[in-house]
Amino acid sequence: MSLFSAVEMAPRDPILGLNEAFNADTRPGKVNLGVGVYYNEEGRIPLLRAVIEAEKARLAAQSPRGYLPIEGIAAYDSAVQKLLFGADSALLAEGRVVTTQSLGGTGALKTGADFLKRLLPDAVVAISNPSWENHRALFESAGFPVQNYSYYDAASQGVNLTGMLADLRALPARSIIVLHACCHNPTGVDLSSSDWQQVLEVVRERNHVPFLDIAYQGFGDGIAEDAEAVRLFADSGLQFFVSSSFSKSFSLYGERVGALSIVTASKEEAGRVLSQVKRVIRTNYSNPPTHGASVVAAVLNSPELRALWEEELGEMRQRIRALRNGMVEQLAAHGAKRDFGFVARQRGMFSYSGLTSEQVERLKNEFGIYAVGTGRICVAALNSKNLEVVTRAIVEVL
Ligand code: PMP
Repeated sequence: MSLFSAVEMAPRDPILGLNEAFNADTRPGKVNLGVGVYYNEEGRIPLLRAVIEAEKARLAAQSPRGYLPIEGIAAYDSAVQKLLFGADSALLAEGRVVTTQSLGGTGALKTGADFLKRLLPDAVVAISNPSWENHRALFESAGFPVQNYSYYDAASQGVNLTGMLADLRALPARSIIVLHACCHNPTGVDLSSSDWQQVLEVVRERNHVPFLDIAYQGFGDGIAEDAEAVRLFADSGLQFFVSSSFSKSFSLYGERVGALSIVTASKEEAGRVLSQVKRVIRTNYSNPPTHGASVVAAVLNSPELRALWEEELGEMRQRIRALRNGMVEQLAAHGAKRDFGFVARQRGMFSYSGLTSEQVERLKNEFGIYAVGTGRICVAALNSKNLEVVTRAIVEVL
């Protein structure tokens, strides 16, 4: 009998399955709104000019490819810290933040989860309902039980804050709370400043451990604006975790560039925490890859390239904003009975469109328009050429 005869087939990733179906579709006008990446007006994943410049310089320097330190490139880690906490952050000046380069945002979550499992082996992890589909799987595979807290309110297309606060209060003390710092995936619905304040108070009251996931900094309202929640927690005096990613903001998906930051109570504590996080990294993949992080560090640490990047990031943000407004206008113009104004109020790449799974199925079958069964669409996959077709089709299936 083969060693593997009892291995069961794992369930298919629903989004990858959608992409396969899209690729197999031969209709010329097909549109894929199921993706999780930013496409430009030409329907392509952009290669940012700031990235091209940094890559040219890197190639020209013919730098050797030795191993990086376990925690990654120092100039990268400190640039990440400034982006998250602000260049004038007191926490950074006090040396209380530990930052390690990671394999994308996913790698940061996984390293953080493995470290937390050693620190709080009996803790419960709570994620928003709904959340990025990998949050649950990732914390479960690190050995934690994972629960949902109330988040999206379908009736108001907003946040069910009362439910959320009640659920956070009801969790065992010292639970790990995964929070989307901005541009919530999949709903596009974010907490307001006063909502964040209330969440912080419950977290403090219950001694919870906040784990802020920020994968879309700069895609919502701006670089500093999108870090508002991170900075609120930074000012609170609490200890917390942040996973961050440059996959979207630098359009470097395949280079796997992210970071795990941990806010500690003192510089001395930071040293001990770093030594343990390094052990987690060392026993998983030893040390991180060089290319993506050196490009990001070069851009963030050069005034000219940084200005160029901010401009390009601003263009991506504005394009998404314009598409959201365009979608609302065109849906109304094509006779939608429902008010879609909420789409313009959502932030980031995604929109919970309110479409039912039956409507999503009809969009696919009748129009070749692919969306996730939950009604999540990627606004950044729209453009001036497909917006009309997509909004007409949506009005058709409503
Ligand atoms: N967190 C959230 C909320 C995400 O949406 C994503 C990816 N889309 C990630 C983390 C992971 O980012 P990365 O691709 O950099 O691993």
